[in-house]
Amino acid sequence: MQQLKRIGSSFWYMTPVSETDRPTLGMVVGTEMNLMIDAGNSDAHARLFLEKLGEHNISKPDFVAITHWHWDHIFGMSALKDSLSISSLETKKEINKLTDYEWTDKALDERVKEGTEIEFCATCIKKEYGEERNIQIHLPKLTFDKQLEIDLGDVTCVLKHVGGDHAQDAIVVYIKEEKILFLNDSIYPDIFSSKNNYTSKRTLKLIEELETFDAETYILSHSENMNRNEFLQEIELLKAVGFYTETYEGDAEKIKSEYKQTVNRELNEDELETIEYFINGYEMDKEL
Ligand SMILES: [Zn+2]
Repeated sequence: MQQLKRIGSSFWYMTPVSETDRPTLGMVVGTEMNLMIDAGNSDAHARLFLEKLGEHNISKPDFVAITHWHWDHIFGMSALKDSLSISSLETKKEINKLTDYEWTDKALDERVKEGTEIEFCATCIKKEYGEERNIQIHLPKLTFDKQLEIDLGDVTCVLKHVGGDHAQDAIVVYIKEEKILFLNDSIYPDIFSSKNNYTSKRTLKLIEELETFDAETYILSHSENMNRNEFLQEIELLKAVGFYTETYEGDAEKIKSEYKQTVNRELNEDELETIEYFINGYEMDKEL
């Protein structure tokens, strides 16, 4: 079940649902204005969040920040027409490409077949919407290039374009006074190519951006929150594997044995998967 949770005095969020790929939704509540983070994967998703917040007398958002173009973060925008939607320039460009699409089973299946959609998203869209599928794509109204700061009244949000392999248009939202960094999907791999992958170049650049924030809590869209230590461990893994992938030119055995020596124990599933994704990225880069 989706739960409404609160961190600090101004940040609320609703937990994700993996079955229908509903991401975490956030709300930053200032003394003057509110900013919602991501619009959700459907009107129903966005409305549920607002309803739960309403029980705590939190009013509708003045702004909605869209973290990246993926369907599960934008389809709820049609339920948030009264809010000023904000995204990176890149995100608006990507969303614009979706406006002519149809979302029927037939259209989705065709796009999966021709390789412009992935099975996972098609399945989740069908599950989230059922037969009734009135999907309307809305474009963000306000766009920015690198960074935008919004003072909501006693709480400030920094929206920053960080990119990464998962979505090159991705931004993160830093809630300054709460030391919360809403990472959304930014540190996940690219799941839209023929193989899930990370590239060393993009990942290392992304980490450089993320390291500029002095956060204590990290919010992810499809997994548990991380504290600073867990975040640092995660980026250490990405950095090390990215570095070894380049050094050993994608040689799986050498990368594994080097990383095993670094951590001085057997590697876990998560680490092995990360190594596999970096090798995929290395191979794909070579083919280009
Ligand atoms: Zn995504």
